[in-house]
Amino acid sequence: MATAVVNYTAAAISDRGRKRASNEDAFGYSVEHGVYFVCDGMGGAAAGEIASSLAIDEMLRLLAERTPGKPLPTVAEQAVIATNEAIFSRSQRNYRLSGMGTTLVGLLVEERNAWVVNVGDSRCYRLRNGHIEQITLDHSLVEEQVRLGRMTCSEALRSPLRNVITRALGTQSHVTPDIFELEAEPGDLFLLCSDGLTRELSDPLIESLLSVDLPLDDMCTRLVNAANKAGGHDNITCLLVRAS
Ligand code: CA
Repeated sequence: MATAVVNYTAAAISDRGRKRASNEDAFGYSVEHGVYFVCDGMGGAAAGEIASSLAIDEMLRLLAERTPGKPLPTVAEQAVIATNEAIFSRSQRNYRLSGMGTTLVGLLVEERNAWVVNVGDSRCYRLRNGHIEQITLDHSLVEEQVRLGRMTCSEALRSPLRNVITRALGTQSHVTPDIFELEAEPGDLFLLCSDGLTRELSDPLIESLLSVDLPLDDMCTRLVNAANKAGGHDNITCLLVRAS
């Protein structure tokens, strides 16, 4: 039997980056309820900010109010569907918010059991024994082409279509999230982040930035500083969750 995970700790930073006028990313978490989320909003004017913050608020509320005993992945899927409807109906009621949407990546934990929920191209990675593994699959046009063998990774990075995402919260009346089931081990470090981090930093660089013994706050700062140093073309958000 592996050692039980008894504790989770978390820290997060969201940064505007160096090029964008506003920050449309958002994060939120509750260690008490075992839920952690990062969202990357899109839409004209302030719509992207509204979509991402609405998604965080709704997901946190729905998960905090959940009925004890109900399986967490089921609760999470229902919460994603309800949150999608909330954003979609708000955009339908206000033409200035028309078309707004957001990505959502979330980590849900119950002792050793962990689930990762994903819609869009924000990502979850897990660092274990010094190596990172990408848990989520991007719902993006170019990444889907890469998975089908129709495009290389370097073509995907340079493609003018690299911003096109194939699933988002709030842009359609219904959405289906990916849900990945994991077992957490003491020492695991989970990173939830927006594409403003992963566009600037390669996986090996992220791995080396995470493979240091520092407080989580300091590790978040190092990640954001590195992404800004690499250009900071987009908003940058990272949320770290450590199992111990
Ligand atoms: Ca972004």
